[in-house]
Amino acid sequence: GEVLLEVSGLRKHFPVTRGAVVKRQVGAVKAVDGVDFTVRAGRTLGLVGESGCGKTTTGRMITRLLEPTDGRIVFEGRDITHVSQGTMRPLRRDIQMIFQDPYSSLNPRKTVGSIVGAPFHLQNVATEAGVKKAVQDLLDVVGLNPEHYNRYPHEFSGGQRQRIGIARTLALRPKLIVADEPVSALDVSIQAQVVNLLEDLQDEFHLTYVVIAHDLSVVRHISDQVGVMYLGKMVELGDNESLYDGPMHPYTVALLSAVPVPDPSVRGGRERIRLQGDVPSPLNPPTACRFHTRCWKAQEVCGQVEPPMVELKPGHQVACHFPENAPPDAESRVAKAA
Ligand code: SF4
Repeated sequence: GEVLLEVSGLRKHFPVTRGAVVKRQVGAVKAVDGVDFTVRAGRTLGLVGESGCGKTTTGRMITRLLEPTDGRIVFEGRDITHVSQGTMRPLRRDIQMIFQDPYSSLNPRKTVGSIVGAPFHLQNVATEAGVKKAVQDLLDVVGLNPEHYNRYPHEFSGGQRQRIGIARTLALRPKLIVADEPVSALDVSIQAQVVNLLEDLQDEFHLTYVVIAHDLSVVRHISDQVGVMYLGKMVELGDNESLYDGPMHPYTVALLSAVPVPDPSVRGGRERIRLQGDVPSPLNPPTACRFHTRCWKAQEVCGQVEPPMVELKPGHQVACHFPENAPPDAESRVAKAA
């Protein structure tokens, strides 16, 4: 498919101020600090990293819930970086977000029928009976009983509520859905069902996804491409198979090694790597390679020279001076680019 979404040099800095009366800026939290990626129509990008890595902030900028500090967001060939949600109705429908906790976004006093049907009423496109039929079709599509049209959100389980939220989103006929931790609030036994549902819907409605998760295993089956973020930076971005079979960034290697799996071959036979310490503060991130304070491969250069993103394998880029699973000439290619 053609490129649907193109993000380049995306930044979001939140100013930090001191002083109750006269505020002065003493710094900035660089929540997202120069992120690039493209997503093709009908495909899925998984965005993964620990909390504070900037993945949610990135998702919110794409859906126009947050204004970028810098960079460009191009959707269907049109620069939407500074287009506000309110000024462009079609755009507001085209790009939708699914949240972690659907319950908080479902009005408890409204029936499922009126929640899912609201977009149809707004569009003024159908009769009452037509809306009811459309809503019941959508409930069916997301695996809910169409006869439960008149029930209230509290009458449903967590997984069913996420399905209601997905049905409401589909009613808007979006092209791109940013799903922010869509299954992390759900029971593990339910998670796979909801991920499978998202996959089925993608085929049926020709949807493009950005799926945000803190765990590489959640996005493994749904993603065509996976981006790993650390402290506001994209540290690795690659096609699914290349990334899971041969992760190059030491951080990705560590994240993958921590995935609890019954079959150790999924980790490439690796020992579990435990990362030292916590994620440093994004207010005062480490110099050069931001991962160098926790990396077991770190050398002096890592704290002095920022490693550039380099495509070391086809469709697979990494930002590291000493990548794992890399071609033999990798270190010299990175050094040349730095
Ligand atoms: Fe580790 Fe150095 Fe690579 Fe950063 S650049 S991930 S510190 S080896």
